Amino acid sequence: MDLEWTDQMRALRDVARNFAETELRPVVMRYDESSEFPFPVIGKLAALGFLGMTCPEDLGGAGLSDLEAAVIVEELARVDPSVALTVASHNSLCTGHLLLFGNEEQKRAYIPDLASGRKLGAWGLTEPGSGSDSGAMQSSAEPAGNDWILNGSKTFITQGSVGSTYVILARTDRSSGKKGISAFILEKGMPGFVVGKKENKLGMRSSDTATLLFENVRIPGKNLLGNAGEGFKQALKVLDGGRIGIAALSVGIAQGALDASVAYAKERRQFGKSIADFQGIQWKLADMATEIEAARLLTHRAAALKAKGEPFGVAASYAKYLASEVAVRATGEAVQIHGGYGFIKDFPVEKFYRDVKLMTIGEGTSEVQKMIIARHLVGG
Ligand SMILES: Cc1cc2nc3c(=O)[nH]c(=O)nc-3n(C[C@H](O)[C@H](O)[C@H](O)COP(=O)(O)OP(=O)(O)OC[C@H]3O[C@@H](n4cnc5c(N)ncnc54)[C@H](O)[C@@H]3O)c2cc1C
Repeated sequence: MDLEWTDQMRALRDVARNFAETELRPVVMRYDESSEFPFPVIGKLAALGFLGMTCPEDLGGAGLSDLEAAVIVEELARVDPSVALTVASHNSLCTGHLLLFGNEEQKRAYIPDLASGRKLGAWGLTEPGSGSDSGAMQSSAEPAGNDWILNGSKTFITQGSVGSTYVILARTDRSSGKKGISAFILEKGMPGFVVGKKENKLGMRSSDTATLLFENVRIPGKNLLGNAGEGFKQALKVLDGGRIGIAALSVGIAQGALDASVAYAKERRQFGKSIADFQGIQWKLADMATEIEAARLLTHRAAALKAKGEPFGVAASYAKYLASEVAVRATGEAVQIHGGYGFIKDFPVEKFYRDVKLMTIGEGTSEVQKMIIARHLVGG
């Protein structure tokens, strides 16, 4: 498989890196502290085409490959993981679901607004009582003539309060288990659709996370994605793609933590030397760099397989599992290398250390990734 960097990948990396340094770095801590959603920043990202990265150009997207999108997400995460999460989830979950399973009419109705950033997208699978076991969801949609009536709730939904277009999974047949789940397009403002509590989080604080409540929401029949009963299967496919984004985000966080650690280690002096001269510090840096390179390669491999139209689900789980665990280790070591200063908000590693934990939880925990990988090995 060809994982060589193309000129276009390098050019996109430079655009994203320059944006992150000039537009994100100066404001990252302000948004983190206030937990405010960074609308001005997201508007500028939209102007670069980063809110419709893999959407076709005739639907207003940038027409990039999955590999190019991964490069962009990594660069944004190197400076601000919350913004990278907004970009990754908007592109791969709501928009990704519509691109994969929407009919022509649905794509033309919703993708241009999402790809241009005029509207933000959110995707609702998780419920208060069903996370890893998402097939046990309780939200339900009952048929009513040509329409559906939705009741229930969703929890921890990224872009939950700032979104305008939502893909929501709900049970449409109580007797058919996971085969009784369907996917619907919802729009903010539909009567009975209410945004609930906005979460106050450990990390990723400027990414928007909210509860969604549905009370007798009437959904037009034309908003069903695919056929009734196909929603859970669709969701698993959407998550396969989303995991490449989370892997890229993890690589970016780990790389940001390594960059900050190398710079700090060269500058900080103890025992009459820079701490970068101590082998104990050098070995930490070497381990971080090696693991990050391996995680990046797995991420690019999964993205390249997806772009070629080959099966990529297990490859995405390998990448997400390794990259997220590597990033947790790397940010821990980064704080250690910074000593007490790593515990202080003036240094970027403090924020990386908080943000990174979501990577081993969201879009399937590390345990769920191991279940997927093991199922591939032993069946079942
Ligand atoms: C900031 C944030 C943003 C999110 N964004 C979205 C979003 O946009 N849309 C959405 O639908 N969801 C979203 N989620 C939800 C996220 O995907 C879930 O939190 C995640 O899937 C885990 O579910 P849970 O929290 O219910 O944990 P649980 O499933 O309750 O898991 C608890 C623990 O048990 C472990 N566990 C569970 N089952 C097994 C098993 N069979 N074997 C071994 N261990 C197991 C888990 O790995 C975990 O360690 C978000 C969550 C957060 C925190």
